[in-house]
Amino acid sequence: MLFRSALRSVVPRALPRVQAPAARTFASALPRLSAQEPVIQGPGGKAGEVPTDLEQATGLERFELLHKLKGEEAFSLEPLEVPRLGTVADPIMVFSLDTERIVGCTGFPVDSHDTILFPVGKDKPVRCPECGCAYQTDFQGVEHDHGHH
Ligand SMILES: [Zn+2]
Repeated sequence: MLFRSALRSVVPRALPRVQAPAARTFASALPRLSAQEPVIQGPGGKAGEVPTDLEQATGLERFELLHKLKGEEAFSLEPLEVPRLGTVADPIMVFSLDTERIVGCTGFPVDSHDTILFPVGKDKPVRCPECGCAYQTDFQGVEHDHGHH
């Protein structure tokens, strides 16, 4: 248990479901753009009004918001279990839906140093500057091509 409450592991309890609209509520806002990536999109704001988060949130933000409305957490809030010191050759893998995450290390064994926050990417391990524990993201999201701007 290396991570504190400030930095929680983000592990989805359930993937966004894309299904036929059963009711007019949330399911109707789940059209498919491609075979791989479900689009979770709200109805948008009404003309002349400031949209609410529920109306304008998209993607993971909407996914999380819809779960909160049902009184559930979309993502695990439990700290990441770290049973060993991560090494560059065998880093602690951190589930991530983005290519980069901020990790909060408290040392190994747990709480052997104050929480140190640092960014961790998917391409190579990053070591904690205090204890040397190595982390790398276990990227499970969808690569986005930003070259279209
Ligand atoms: Zn550390």
